[in-house]
Amino acid sequence: MKKQTKLIIGLALSVISLCFSILLLTDAIPTSPKQPKYIFYFIGDGMSFNHILGAEQYNAVKEGKSEVERLCFSKFETRNFVTNYSASNPVTDSAAAGTALATGVKTANAYIGVDAEGNELRNLGDVASEEKYMIGLVTNVGINHATPSCFYGHSSDRFGFPKLVDDYIASDVAFISGSTIMDLKSGPEDAKYQRVTTAELAERIRKAGINLTLDVEEASNAVGQRVALVANDKENKHVPYVIDRKGGELTLLDSSRAAIKYLSNNAKDGFFLMIEGGKLDYAAHEQDAVTTFLEVNELAAAVELALEFAEQHPDETLIVVTADHETGGMALGWDHYEIRMEKFMAQKASAIEMTKIIQKMRAEGKRDWNDYKQALSDNFGLWSLVPVSKEDETILKHDFYDIFLKYGPMVDGLYNKSEFLVYDAIRMLNKSASIDWTSLYHTGMYTPIFAKGVGEKAFLECRDQTDIPKTIAKLMGGKL
Ligand SMILES: [Zn+2]
Repeated sequence: MKKQTKLIIGLALSVISLCFSILLLTDAIPTSPKQPKYIFYFIGDGMSFNHILGAEQYNAVKEGKSEVERLCFSKFETRNFVTNYSASNPVTDSAAAGTALATGVKTANAYIGVDAEGNELRNLGDVASEEKYMIGLVTNVGINHATPSCFYGHSSDRFGFPKLVDDYIASDVAFISGSTIMDLKSGPEDAKYQRVTTAELAERIRKAGINLTLDVEEASNAVGQRVALVANDKENKHVPYVIDRKGGELTLLDSSRAAIKYLSNNAKDGFFLMIEGGKLDYAAHEQDAVTTFLEVNELAAAVELALEFAEQHPDETLIVVTADHETGGMALGWDHYEIRMEKFMAQKASAIEMTKIIQKMRAEGKRDWNDYKQALSDNFGLWSLVPVSKEDETILKHDFYDIFLKYGPMVDGLYNKSEFLVYDAIRMLNKSASIDWTSLYHTGMYTPIFAKGVGEKAFLECRDQTDIPKTIAKLMGGKL
C-alpha cells in the first residue's frame, strides 16, 4: 500500500473514531430539555373534578356515544390535585386564588397581587419578563377581572378596576384579550372611581400607545406593538355563554388563536400565555349545568389549540391546565346511582338568557301562564323531555304569579340575578338529570392539575395551588 493511501485511511479512521466519541459523549448528556420555551397556563375558573366529568358525560350522550370520552386535557398522563384555601377563608374567591396561582402566595379574599397585609407581590408576569418570555393573557370575561389582573396588577380591592387598568398599562403584558374592560357597574360603588366608564378606560389604554382593537385579524397580525383585543370597548358587557351565541361574537377560541399567532410572530425567546375560561364560573354560580359543561368544552377546545402548537414545537412546549377553586358544589348523581344527562338535551338557553326571555315577556305585558309554560318547555325541555310533577308545577305557577305581584326578589348568583321562576325551573331540570348543587358560591374542594410537555413531572410535587406558579417560575429559570 502506498504511503499516501495509508495516511488517508489512518486519517479517515481517526475521524470516524472521533465522531463515535462525540456521539457517545452527546449521548451521555441528558438530551431532554429542561426549560420550556413556550408555556401555556390554562385556568378554568370554578372548574373542579365534577365539572370536567359532567362535561364528558354530557358530551357522550349528546353525541350518541356509548363510551364516555375524556376531554383532551383529562387524558394527560401527569395529573395531580391541590388545596386552594385562602389566607382569610377556607373557601377562596377568584382574587385570592388568582393571586395564589400567579404569585405563589396566599392572600385574603378580594385581594389582587398583594399579600394579606397589602404588600405588593411579584407575579409570573414579572418572572416571564426577566426570563425573556413574552407575555400573553386571554380570558372571556373582562381583561381587568380577578384572574387575569393577578398576572399584572396589585390591589386590595378586586373591584378597583380602573387602578388595575393602570397596572396593566404599566406592565410588560404584550397581548391581552377578553370580553371588555370592566368599570364599576360590576362591583361595589366606590366614589373614587365612580365616574370612570369602560369607554374612558379604553381611551386610557389607547393613549398609552397600546393597539386596543375589536378586530381579531388586526390583533393576530400585529407586529412590534402591544395589543389589547376586546369584544366591547364602549360598555361593560360580557360576551354571551357558548349556549347563547348567535354568531359573530368574540370567543375564547378566537382570542386564544389570535394570542398564539401574535406571540408566534413577535416572541423571539419564547412566550408565557395564560388562558382563563372565566365564564365557566359564572355558569356554575347560577347552578346551570349545561351552560357550565359547554364552557368546560370551550376551555378544552382552547387546550386543543395549545396541543396543535405543541405538535409543531415538540420538546419546547409545556401545557398546564388547572382551576382556581370549585364553584357551586356540583354533585354528579343524587338519585340511585344514576345520572340522566339525556334530560339536559332540550336545553337551548342559559338560565340568564331565560331570565331575559321571561323579563321581555313581562315587559310586553304577557299575563297568561301558558305562554310562560311554553317558553320553559321550548328552552329547557320542561314538560316535553323533563316531566314536571303537579307539586313542581304549583311551585312554578307560584313563581309566575310573583312576577306580576312584584319585581324580584331575584336569586343572586353573584354575577347575574335569575328570576325565581328560572331558578326553580333549573333546579327541577338538575333534579331530573340527578345533578345537584350545594352552593350559589364557591366551595373548598380540591382543584385539579393536568400537565403535558417539558417539565410536566415537576407538577406531581405540587400540594397547594401556590406550588403551581413556583414550579412554572422554576421551569422558566427564575424565581417568584
Ligand atoms: Zn374563580
